[in-house]
Amino acid sequence: MGKKKPAEKKQTKEESVSFADLDLSPQMLDSLKRATYETPTPIQAGLIPVALDGIDVLGQARTGTGKTAAFAIPIIEELEPQKKGVGPQALILVPTRELAVQVREETQKLAYGRRVTCTAVYGGKPIRDQIEKLRNGVHIVVGTPGRVIDHVSRRTLSLDNLWCVVLDEADRMLDIGFRPDIEKILRRCPKDRQTLLLSATIPPPIERLANRYMFEPQKIDCSPKAVAVETIEQRYFTVEPRCKFDLLLLLLKREQPKQAIVFCRTKRGTEKVAQRLKKRIDSVDCIHGDMQQRSRDRVMKEFRDGNLTHLIATDVVGRGIDVTGVSHIVNYDIPQFSDDYIHRVGRTGRMGREGVAFTFVSPEEGHELTRIEQRINTMLIRDEIEGFDPLELREQVDSSRPKEEPPPPPPFSKHRGRRHRNAL
Ligand code: AMP
Repeated sequence: MGKKKPAEKKQTKEESVSFADLDLSPQMLDSLKRATYETPTPIQAGLIPVALDGIDVLGQARTGTGKTAAFAIPIIEELEPQKKGVGPQALILVPTRELAVQVREETQKLAYGRRVTCTAVYGGKPIRDQIEKLRNGVHIVVGTPGRVIDHVSRRTLSLDNLWCVVLDEADRMLDIGFRPDIEKILRRCPKDRQTLLLSATIPPPIERLANRYMFEPQKIDCSPKAVAVETIEQRYFTVEPRCKFDLLLLLLKREQPKQAIVFCRTKRGTEKVAQRLKKRIDSVDCIHGDMQQRSRDRVMKEFRDGNLTHLIATDVVGRGIDVTGVSHIVNYDIPQFSDDYIHRVGRTGRMGREGVAFTFVSPEEGHELTRIEQRINTMLIRDEIEGFDPLELREQVDSSRPKEEPPPPPPFSKHRGRRHRNAL
């Protein structure tokens, strides 16, 4: 018999694995049935058995691949529910408030029927309520690094009894400047803990973090580029910056999306596009880091419930959005980094559903488009709107409206350094 190529072997194995094969408790199998999860996704099939064995994992997977359940399932299975008052047993670090809420909800869903408590700690919410919950005793804490550090400094959160730490979306946490906080937290965690690191990409800074704080991690690659490219149609428009808004309007009218996220580079740009769009079409709102937490929560709920069709968002807030109904992504501003492109586009086509992503590229941004194409190893398809010339300088949709101001200068240089967490 000839030797099989490893890739083929891996594929066959993943396809045939069921949750029942993963050595899970009957209670967990019941929760999975309730959640209507029929078969494990590749990251779940790969990560769950390794994590259940207590081995550190360096997993490459983006949001939308089922990665939350991949780490939540083994944590719930291994928890000791009777040990509640001694400080959490598992800590899940995430980059944004929205993701903290999503991870807590997913964990609670999978812990259905068990006496397992999970709480989310993040900025923008009164710290007192969180202190109260922590004081009552919790098994799992999900939090943004800044707020976790805050609680540790106030001695309202003890890390002494942790046996598992998850770094979720680690690349994004480093991008937005959480490295010092993460390192501070990891140094305070018990040495014999298990560490699970999930990241859409594994650039050198992530490797270094893994080398420093993990013990012989097993690598599991459910790489984003294959996923993004397979299920999502990706198109681009060449457009003068001043024609972008008209193009957006025509595109949304042509496409009639079930739900769309329009990504802008800055908070101000996000606000501006949303305000203009609200005057022209129904069901538009925006989300960005300058908004009050209450407003962000409200907009996210509306979007998640399917009551909001068009969401205008910045990267940091938009990237963690886990809404299966998103049919369209529009990159109103081309992402600054190729990985941001993958994260943005990954908001659609979730769990194998079909999605379309459109990227607006100005004539000066051709090289940025090329970089993205090289990163995802796919050429984007050029698109056009009939009768609309996006390189034309005069207003074409409504000539009575005042002319658009020139776009503001980019907020930060092209240098891929650490960005301030409020930059986006
Ligand atoms: P995540 O990558 O963790 O953001 O998950 C994306 C979405 O997939 C979430 O809405 C999950 O509830 C859902 N999900 C996770 N695992 C499965 C599964 N095995 N089958 C079906 N849906 C799943």
